Amino acid sequence: FFVEPGQISGSTVVISGEDFKHITKVLRLGKDDRIEVCDGLGNDYLIVLDSPTDRTISGYIKSQEPSQGETPELLITLYQGLPKGTKMEMIIQKGVELGVYEIVPFSSLRAVVQIKDKQDKKIERWQRIAYEAAKQSKRGIIPQIGKPLTLAGVLQETDRYDLILLAYEDENRQTLKEALTAFEKKQVVDKPLRIAVIIGPEGGFDPQEAAACQAAGVISVSLGKRILRTETAGMMVLSQLNFWK
Ligand code: SAM
Repeated sequence: FFVEPGQISGSTVVISGEDFKHITKVLRLGKDDRIEVCDGLGNDYLIVLDSPTDRTISGYIKSQEPSQGETPELLITLYQGLPKGTKMEMIIQKGVELGVYEIVPFSSLRAVVQIKDKQDKKIERWQRIAYEAAKQSKRGIIPQIGKPLTLAGVLQETDRYDLILLAYEDENRQTLKEALTAFEKKQVVDKPLRIAVIIGPEGGFDPQEAAACQAAGVISVSLGKRILRTETAGMMVLSQLNFWK
């Protein structure tokens, strides 16, 4: 279970709301049973539960350790071209399982779906999916879903990253593996690496957009000879990055 830092006081944790119901009614746990909770900041706690009251259950912290589900040395933001239908939900769920740090949707020239004014409800739903996936895969943080941007907006954020990769279907000069190897040789700093991955929508990128990315210092890479669906491409990059550092 994820808990807010405010739910932890000294060595006591208090749980209410949906998680209280889940623990007491669905899992039927009570006094002396153990659960694991995470503060969403990368710390896991083993909790020994007390007897529940009407609306809350508390417990004491038996032990604490850094979350095993994180690779804090690699923070990956996935910029995902807005896909059709409910594909974004799958991209979020699988992206969180594969260790993504943050996902930001964006609109671009060839996107079938464009940003509409009212996105709040959608972002709320996507954030909920990220929360459930983080809980399921024992992540130590809840990856955040950013407000949708335009591609130009994405390119204004480039100074947040050590490396920005554009998966470009028409790239034939270097593969993802070659780009990572070249970057590794230059890399000397001993701090978390911030990496951005930009994936196009179903219609791919217009050559003008690829040129604008490259002019902004983005490294364009091929993911191989086969064209992957937009929902597959980001997952392939995340999988490779999992075994890189
Ligand atoms: N039409 C398919 C679909 O409906 O999903 C394929 C879309 S593909 C053009 C979408 C994005 O995936 C591309 O813009 C690119 O970011 C990435 N991609 C797919 N295959 C790739 C490859 N072989 N090399 C580099 N990027 C690729």
